[in-house]
Amino acid sequence: MTRREPRSRDGGSSASLRRPRRVAVLGAGVAGLAAAYEVSRAGAPERAQALVLEAADRVGGKVLSVSRGGVIYEAGPDSFISAKPDVLDLARELGISGDLAATKPGSSSVSIYFRGRLRTLRGGMWPPKASALLSSGLLSWRGLARLALSRWPGSEDPVGTDESLAAFVRRRFGQEALERLADPLLAGIYAGDAEELSLESTFPQIKTAFAKNGASAARPPWRPAPGQSLFMTFQGGLSRLPEALCAALPGGAVRTGARVLALSRRDREWKIETSAGDFAADAVVSALPAGALAPAVERLDPELAAVLREIPFASTATVSLLYDDSSLPVRPEGFGFLVPRREGKAVSAATYSSSKFPGRAPEGKTLVRCFVGGAGRGAWAEKSEEDLIRLASEELSEILGLGKSCRPVEAKAWRWIAANPQYTVGHALRLKRLESCLMGHPGLILAGASYRGVGLPDCVRSGRAAARAALSPRGGFPAVV
Ligand SMILES: Cc1cc2nc3c(=O)[nH]c(=O)nc-3n(C[C@H](O)[C@H](O)[C@H](O)COP(=O)(O)OP(=O)(O)OC[C@H]3O[C@@H](n4cnc5c(N)ncnc54)[C@H](O)[C@@H]3O)c2cc1C
Repeated sequence: MTRREPRSRDGGSSASLRRPRRVAVLGAGVAGLAAAYEVSRAGAPERAQALVLEAADRVGGKVLSVSRGGVIYEAGPDSFISAKPDVLDLARELGISGDLAATKPGSSSVSIYFRGRLRTLRGGMWPPKASALLSSGLLSWRGLARLALSRWPGSEDPVGTDESLAAFVRRRFGQEALERLADPLLAGIYAGDAEELSLESTFPQIKTAFAKNGASAARPPWRPAPGQSLFMTFQGGLSRLPEALCAALPGGAVRTGARVLALSRRDREWKIETSAGDFAADAVVSALPAGALAPAVERLDPELAAVLREIPFASTATVSLLYDDSSLPVRPEGFGFLVPRREGKAVSAATYSSSKFPGRAPEGKTLVRCFVGGAGRGAWAEKSEEDLIRLASEELSEILGLGKSCRPVEAKAWRWIAANPQYTVGHALRLKRLESCLMGHPGLILAGASYRGVGLPDCVRSGRAAARAALSPRGGFPAVV
């Protein structure tokens, strides 16, 4: 920690007027690294410096790509959407646009596993095309008729109240569309439960489109960036992004093995106690998950810690299974499938990684990544890695009809316990309460997936916005970005 310095008349230290603005960034996930990058971009090191404090011995947080034997395993996220420009813009700035990879042409169909069979939806996920729905056999005639009725203006959406995604879809499209389409397709993105998730905080664009244009606004919530596919990744895996961010930072800007324990503020200076010693800063960007920040601010502000703890997190696991093509009765084609919760499976979704993106597995091999757990199904994700692999390969065999003799030649599982923030009903109000607590702690800014978007583009946007707020002489408001 830096030595205390003589104070100037305004209460700050005279030395603080000369030295660069020191920004401590907590957490080296994508949001934290993007924040540090933005600070380093903001000017010469004489003007601003960032120090990233990370508990783990590696950077990237949830982003972790493992390459082995020509296979790229993604432990956490496997892609990002191009509809939000933030990752694409950052990739351009970092000079790694050439490493971007689009989805394979013609691979975009998604299936839903329903009553023992995969039902393929061609031509996009939400809203599904009427013809695709008809041929899929996913909805009953009653369910289809109910969905067709949604084309006419019906009951108004409640004004000024936050409602669940399920309440909205049930009212607009009916119960079948909720259980068999919206919960797996939309809530699944958040590893969430449509009954719990806030429509306003998860899909504000759907709410706004309906408010403006009525039911005719059943358009896709996202459109790909021009010339790009909707889902994108990097050729060697998503870890390319945190690696390139790290490489763009000045040497020594990231301190791994430094678990943040407590934050305090005195004489306009923040003190960060960590497992690797204490550090001083003029501003702090927390890019920690809300639940990890809570204990560190308990002494500083118990109310702030309590609101942070109110944000729930769901547990998930990913299980990657590699097959020899020769052992597969049919090679899975398309993006993958989703499993509605009523089917009672541990696997809630699967991506046919080698069909979706190029270069994920060598010729002659097929890579499938299963997603286990999520809100209300978290217990599955907490099983041992061995059990997860057994469970996922058994269920995959059943769902794809692979037959008993078809076994993966390699398998890897990663557990993400209490890792997926849930924007449940009341989330927007919780953010307001956080903002109001932070009024009392100038220079402390909250960024990352816990607050205003879980996807990688949102995390990049949030980290960069937090850095700009931290550099602002006003102390940084809004403080939850
Ligand atoms: C299984 C899974 C699949 C996903 N799939 C996708 C996808 O395909 N596309 C997509 O866009 N998004 C996806 N997401 C979401 C996305 O990956 C995350 O929202 C995003 O990576 C979070 O970034 P972050 O920087 O906010 O937080 P994190 O990545 O969680 O980073 C937080 C960092 O803080 C560190 N930390 C924690 N506590 C402390 C402490 N006390 N002191 C210091 N450091 C600490 C952690 O070690 C970590 O490095 C997925 C998430 C999961 C779990």
